Amino acid sequence: MTARAGKSASAPAAPVIVRVDLGARGYDIAIGGGLLGEAGERVARIKPKAKAMIVTDETVAKLYLEPCRQALSAAGVESASVVMRPGESSKSFSTYERVIDALLQSKIERGDLVIALGGGVVGDLAGFAAATARRGMDLVQIPTTLLAQVDSSVGGKTGIDTKQGKNLVGAFHQPRLVIADTDVLDSLSPREFRSGYAEVAKYGLINDAAFFAWLEQNWKKVFAGGPERVHAVATSCRAKAAIVGRDEREAGERALLNLGHTFGHALEAAAGYSERLLHGEAVAIGIVLAFRLSHRLGRCRAEEAERVAAHFSAVGLPTKLSDVAGGLPGTDALLALMAQDKKVRLGALVFILARGIGEAEIAQGVDMQAVRKTLDEAGSNS
Ligand code: NAD
Repeated sequence: MTARAGKSASAPAAPVIVRVDLGARGYDIAIGGGLLGEAGERVARIKPKAKAMIVTDETVAKLYLEPCRQALSAAGVESASVVMRPGESSKSFSTYERVIDALLQSKIERGDLVIALGGGVVGDLAGFAAATARRGMDLVQIPTTLLAQVDSSVGGKTGIDTKQGKNLVGAFHQPRLVIADTDVLDSLSPREFRSGYAEVAKYGLINDAAFFAWLEQNWKKVFAGGPERVHAVATSCRAKAAIVGRDEREAGERALLNLGHTFGHALEAAAGYSERLLHGEAVAIGIVLAFRLSHRLGRCRAEEAERVAAHFSAVGLPTKLSDVAGGLPGTDALLALMAQDKKVRLGALVFILARGIGEAEIAQGVDMQAVRKTLDEAGSNS
């Protein structure tokens, strides 16, 4: 990792480079303002003379497809593009087929490159296409949402949804490079930015209490942009890179990254994966519930759980079931949805609980009466 250079007041700061250490499959995450304009040089450095298929969505295409293509072309990287509709519904077999068709019909060959330019939906779908087209092609992630910069573009999980549930078909396929231009986050809606911010705070809550305390002080500057935003994205990527470097395939420790997700996935499913509740919003409520459950089980002090809820409220994230527009079903229905989660092992739910801020742990055999009471208290009555 190199530090920000800050050579002079007017020179753009050097990007932060975070290395994901996976031996021969290791890669750099470049993080900083203005990096889209240098994407061509960075891509050409790892794949000189390659051709690229840029996969993106309509919203991102309007804003960043031309600048991306120009940056590539200036560095001698030819590109074509395939543009999908924005939203989770594009993580489907039919859009996957469209991307694969575009790849195979173009003159883009096995030694060439897929570039995912967009949020987590584009990254997961393009990543899965790269993992499978021609038995595997190189992938560069250019994440354009906060969630994608701090989470989905790093770590190699790719996939699509099926009628049975989210992310049920996929592959581990690490990118060759991630370029996180923190300036492109300026065009995100405040709600999308906040949603991604829940995942940023999550890293502090997992194992970095000092980072969480820093966020409590500096979150407004992270939202505004500038060096604090770069610092928050880089700290998050470093945290994820460290865990992925030790447990790439989620045999153990990587499950910590699911803090808030056992509850969160059930809430997202209950809201029909709709605009009523974005992924990060569900994670924010889920994290608060995980801390309250930890307190109920005697693992964590009530003040710690309330501190988490207070920070999310200050930022404008939902923390209660009643914060979800249109309401949610009762406890029984939510428990049934939790039981369908991928993280169920041998019929038992796996929870990520916490001893306190920065002290998350994997817990099995959690008392389901305590889970039920936590949901009841959170405002759902079956
Ligand atoms: P998204 O990709 O749907 O993007 C959200 C919205 O923002 C879209 O409408 C998009 O068009 C728009 N957008 C993207 N960049 C923009 C920009 N710079 N300016 C303006 N608008 C922009 O959603 P997301 O929250 O980025 O990702 C959610 C997906 O990520 C889910 O499918 C989830 O399963 C997946 N995910 C994957 C992993 C992983 O490890 N692979 C981890 C977490 C989440």
